[in-house]
Amino acid sequence: MKKPFKEFRIDWTDNVCSKNQSPSAKKPLREYRIKFEKVPKGKKAVPDPDKLGIRSKLGGEPDWVQSPEIPECSDCKQPMTFIAQIDSMEHDEKHNPHAIDCLSRQQQYMFGDVGMIYVFMCFSCMTTKSVVQCG
Ligand SMILES: [Zn+2]
Repeated sequence: MKKPFKEFRIDWTDNVCSKNQSPSAKKPLREYRIKFEKVPKGKKAVPDPDKLGIRSKLGGEPDWVQSPEIPECSDCKQPMTFIAQIDSMEHDEKHNPHAIDCLSRQQQYMFGDVGMIYVFMCFSCMTTKSVVQCG
């Protein structure tokens, strides 16, 4: 059976991450609890990088959506340590337990086109930076 065609249109003005929104329109995002689980040696936290929406993790190496962009610390100019990546976790796909219909205008965690936010820290200077890449 052929899958019915689903028209897809992104209304960036409805995205809470959009630069077009006025500061007064920004509200706290929907809250999610994170369950931490140590990844056994030899295994990966994200076994399939193509499973969009379920690629959030702490530590290890960043799973870059685009080219690597490890930032340098603004103070000591050294490369920063990768802390976490936060996926567009409401991506509308069957494999994703937190999927939200992309046409519902209810997605809050959609960073560009299924992008990712990467968080870095310099432990010497106690500074952080983040990098966002669009999918
Ligand atoms: Zn530093």
